[in-house]
Amino acid sequence: MYLQKTIKTAVKCSGIGLHTGRKINMTIKPAEVDEGVVFCRRDLPGNNKINAGLHNVFDTTLATTLGMNGTRVSTVEHLLSAFSGVGISNAIIEIDSFEIPIMDGSARPFVDLFNKIGTRIQSKPRKFMVIEKPVSVCDEQGKAMFLPSSKFEITYDIDFDHPVVEKQSYHMVFSPEMYEKNICFARTFGFLRDVEYLQARGLALGGSLENAVVMDDEKVLNKEGLRSPDEFVKHKILDAIGDLFLLGMPIVGHFKAYKSGHRLNNLLLKEILAHEECWRVVHYFNGEERNEKSYSSFPLHTISEVYAG
Ligand SMILES: [Zn+2]
Repeated sequence: MYLQKTIKTAVKCSGIGLHTGRKINMTIKPAEVDEGVVFCRRDLPGNNKINAGLHNVFDTTLATTLGMNGTRVSTVEHLLSAFSGVGISNAIIEIDSFEIPIMDGSARPFVDLFNKIGTRIQSKPRKFMVIEKPVSVCDEQGKAMFLPSSKFEITYDIDFDHPVVEKQSYHMVFSPEMYEKNICFARTFGFLRDVEYLQARGLALGGSLENAVVMDDEKVLNKEGLRSPDEFVKHKILDAIGDLFLLGMPIVGHFKAYKSGHRLNNLLLKEILAHEECWRVVHYFNGEERNEKSYSSFPLHTISEVYAG
């Protein structure tokens, strides 16, 4: 995890788009050091690249949408979560639509894909953000915070007024093994009334029991049931790991959330960047921690650009 990593070879992947319900083709390619994750819209002419960075977060309602130079790509969080989970820092994603295929609603198909083709360790160290003082954000519903810790820890609590979900809590010390075993399989979830409402308005046309856990007022409607009793809170952690990827570097600290979502997770990243006294950026060389001069998730991007976006 201390050196940058990409995938070994290019790989193709296709699936249904959650919003359009249409088939989407994607090719994930290896990228150079410091390139980060870059989306490339093959269905559009001209400059169609979008860097996966906080400065490009365009919208966080329902899913995370990135935008750059008028080009957008939506529903990026599960793929970014898989990159984070496997420890991939650099990749190019060519896609022929505005949304990443929803696959089975989890990150497992992407993790399986990366395991199948393999990853390649690169020559340059990864940067890490070490949290030194607590930072938190909240809204009417929830809270999200970073606390100092010597590891990357996650604690997540949810509380839904629904007999299947109710209160769920999960704590983990992050490792790729833990992610693969306990988190990546957790599917996105929703309520039948919301799916019906969205579909009546021409949205979520690809949404089905094949790519989400769907509930009515009492029970889960998927015949196969849940993949684990706490699949809901685990999916929220999967989403958060994808959201935190947009910082551009892994966290050494404790991410703690209560009923958070994409919006609040993004707000927390902006809040931490605004408080330079609360963190430092390091890399590890020969087992030693070394301070980096400054925060820069990608070359040319500065903190002020994060705010301008
Ligand atoms: Zn999700």
